[in-house]
Amino acid sequence: MVQVVVIGGGQAGLATGFYLRRSGLVPGKDFVILDAATQPGGAWAQLWPTLRTFSPTQYSSLPGWMMPPWTGDAGYPLASHVVDYLTRYEQRYGLDVRRSVSVQSVTRGRHGLLQVHSTRGDWEAEAVVSATGTWSRPFVPAYPGSFAGRRVHTAGYRRASDFAGQRVLIVGGGNSAAQILAEVSQVAATTWITLRPPRFLPDDVDGRALFEIATRRHRARQVGEPDSAGVAGLGDIVMVDSVREARDRDVLHARWPFTQLVDHGVRWDDGSESSFDTIIWCTGFRPALGHLTALGLRGPDGRIPTDGTQAIKEQRLHLIGYGDWTGPASATLIGAGRTARDLVAAL
Ligand code: FAD
Repeated sequence: MVQVVVIGGGQAGLATGFYLRRSGLVPGKDFVILDAATQPGGAWAQLWPTLRTFSPTQYSSLPGWMMPPWTGDAGYPLASHVVDYLTRYEQRYGLDVRRSVSVQSVTRGRHGLLQVHSTRGDWEAEAVVSATGTWSRPFVPAYPGSFAGRRVHTAGYRRASDFAGQRVLIVGGGNSAAQILAEVSQVAATTWITLRPPRFLPDDVDGRALFEIATRRHRARQVGEPDSAGVAGLGDIVMVDSVREARDRDVLHARWPFTQLVDHGVRWDDGSESSFDTIIWCTGFRPALGHLTALGLRGPDGRIPTDGTQAIKEQRLHLIGYGDWTGPASATLIGAGRTARDLVAAL
């Protein structure tokens, strides 16, 4: 029996581990962090190698220890730098993450405890923190018809050269779409689809602004003032170097969505059709909550209603990461620490 089981050893699980340890709990004895992956880094270890964070290192840190600086590229590090940081972070604080342990379900057990069932045995815990992220649940919107060509999601994208010489349709209006478009358009004929006109942040707005807005939202919530729209009020796409370069090449033009998939491509609303070799879906992810199904907590929108990080219908369960609904910017490097601090205080 342990006091707390943390499911997921990405940035959210590590930040939670940091505060649990600081509150006096001993890693591996009083709490355990279980992670399905074989290596550290959470989703960062799966991202394509040329991905850059949208915030400089000093605004991308977990509690306690700053991410080492990244020189060049205006200070925006590659994903591998984040993986290295998270690897050293868990070593530095001796967080004892148990890897290759996939949690299958959480159930209500005896004596007021929760039971955590995994591929490597069961744990009993007074409380469970779910920090499983979204990476394992790529989302692709439903369109009528079907496309016989190659289909790739952000989660499976590795490098632009895989699409050299092709006609590529890129779907999505966020940072992933813009960064993938920027590099694929150098080697392929690209068409970009967004649900609404793309909203580029001003060149001088990056993760620093995200941090400041998240701070304001956090304070507003604490004193019961109305919540603002967060960074979404400013725009969606951070102008990292590769996206600025794509703007200079004049490729950042988006088309309205098509109405239907056809064998060789897509059909537009005027009935005309275009042919593509590949569609890259940069259409996001959904929370990986399947292991909590047996608790019967999900609302109609697929999320688990929470008060802060605490599940309203199961108060021994907390959720962190996933999106703003578990805390302002809690699914970013910048925001995970603050949410983890509040979570552990609530526990
Ligand atoms: P994850 O990193 O996904 O970690 C979850 C962990 O849980 C994984 O290690 C997984 O193995 C484990 N797990 C899942 N299910 C189970 C299970 N059933 N049992 C046991 N273990 C399980 N954020 C920024 O701050 N700056 C950026 O520039 C930035 N860029 C991004 C770019 C892209 C393309 C994406 C997709 C995200 C980006 N983010 C960025 C957002 C965010 O920082 C990441 O998504 C982050 O990885 C979320 O951390 P997490 O710990 O919540 O989840």
